[in-house]
Amino acid sequence: MEFIREYADWFYLIGAVLFILTLRGLSGPKTAIAGNRYGMIAMAIAVVTTFFVAENPVVWMILAAMAAGAVVGIARARTVPMTQMPETVALMHSLVGLAAVLIAVAAIIHNNKLVELGPDLLTANGVTFHEMSKVHLFELFVGCFVGAITFTASVFAYGKLAAKKWAKTISGGWVKPVQALIFIAMLAAGIHFFLTGSMTSFWAMTGLALAFGWVWIAPVGGGDMPVVVSLLNSFSGWAAAGIGFTLENNMLIVAGSLVGSSGAILSYIMCKAMNRSIINVLFGGAMGGAAAPTAAAGAQVQRNYRSGSADDAGFLMSNADSVVIVPGYGMAQGRAQNAVKELANLLKEQGVTVRFAIHPVAGRMPGHMNVLLAEADVPYEDILEMDEINSDFPATDVVLVIGANDVVNPAAKDDPNSPIYGMPILEAHKARTIMVIKRSMATGYAGLDNDLFYNDKTMMIFGDAKKVVEDMTKAINGTGH
Ligand code: NDP
Repeated sequence: MEFIREYADWFYLIGAVLFILTLRGLSGPKTAIAGNRYGMIAMAIAVVTTFFVAENPVVWMILAAMAAGAVVGIARARTVPMTQMPETVALMHSLVGLAAVLIAVAAIIHNNKLVELGPDLLTANGVTFHEMSKVHLFELFVGCFVGAITFTASVFAYGKLAAKKWAKTISGGWVKPVQALIFIAMLAAGIHFFLTGSMTSFWAMTGLALAFGWVWIAPVGGGDMPVVVSLLNSFSGWAAAGIGFTLENNMLIVAGSLVGSSGAILSYIMCKAMNRSIINVLFGGAMGGAAAPTAAAGAQVQRNYRSGSADDAGFLMSNADSVVIVPGYGMAQGRAQNAVKELANLLKEQGVTVRFAIHPVAGRMPGHMNVLLAEADVPYEDILEMDEINSDFPATDVVLVIGANDVVNPAAKDDPNSPIYGMPILEAHKARTIMVIKRSMATGYAGLDNDLFYNDKTMMIFGDAKKVVEDMTKAINGTGH
């Protein structure tokens, strides 16, 4: 065991490399399982090594906390439906934030106790005592306030996504000044703590940071919460890295920085794919602007569209050479992924080339469609990203849009006045025939009408995604109606 202590930094280095391989693995569906495994091994190495590095750890307490965490974690992982994943992730980030706050509080109380006992007595009893340096106070300051903001902001994000009554969106002219006031007071208390080590300032800073996390996120619209959750993921990483400095634990610094930077990159990618800026997401609501792009209220113009039945659609698809399926939020909402997979298999059996086209922000969380299609065992090679498939649409016989709306809205390319102008889209409008499954002519997440539905080449098939797809399969099989 002495061996582990002596070579702790080497073990941590192996853990760090495995964490990097984890992120690399998680970036693609084919390598995601291996990535998860690397992560598990890295975490096991980190935890075991830390046991041996820690000075006088209270082993039973740590084991009891780990066991309790494992029971709750396993139970939740087994039962959580895919649609509740974003709120579960938000709740997990809140725990990282809370842990950072508690560690900072414990480090300060511990240090104060040692000071009370008196350095001389401690030295006489063989305890090494170091006065807290300014650097140390700064780390505590950063770790604690970032952790506190992450905690309450994540709890709010969880409440909002889970539609809890207490997570009310706040709005009005007072919001921004109050946010600014709390933020300035928090910084002032933190700086005072940093300069003097005053405990009163420390508690004030922590309390204000907790309050700030709430008022900062409460004005953000529900639809923007996934971006906020990704940003809070990044925050929780930085809080952990800050605490890693406090605990002088290299592993925590590296792992925290990896989470911090990957979360920041993901938030950037999401904002770019939605053609929003992070500032607009975070402060759009508080500034009085719309939190998410919504259609301007105005007279609804009656427009003509063509609708057809699942039977017609099934017939057309079975006679096509190539079909591209574009899944969107409606496929997730209608839990239609298994039915979609069956339809795709049947078409393939009939000699049709079937591929899936995935937009980076289709659904309500990053990778939403990839996860659902993987769950239904759709082969990875049939799933193409937007950049890979867009040039193929003009040569595609049928594009089948299942519960997608914004991600195929041509206004993003053609209409400079559209709130989503500039957002990259799947160019389904270029296909020879377009079929759209949805329940009504209602708008999607962005609240915008979609020209694709009124295109001469488009056939709307109204109904719940799962039911319509099953009917199409029956029709192709010749068993329907
Ligand atoms: P949209 O939200 O634009 O549209 C979904 C469509 O599905 C609706 O028009 C709805 O129409 C239809 N629908 C809903 N339930 C069903 C059902 N049971 N059966 C059939 N149809 C159904 O989805 P997209 O995937 O096209 O776009 C995602 C949007 O979410 C984008 O605007 C994106 O910016 C945003 N977003 C994405 C995030 C991400 O990380 N993926 C994060 C935050 C926001 P109807 O009611 O008529 O059935």
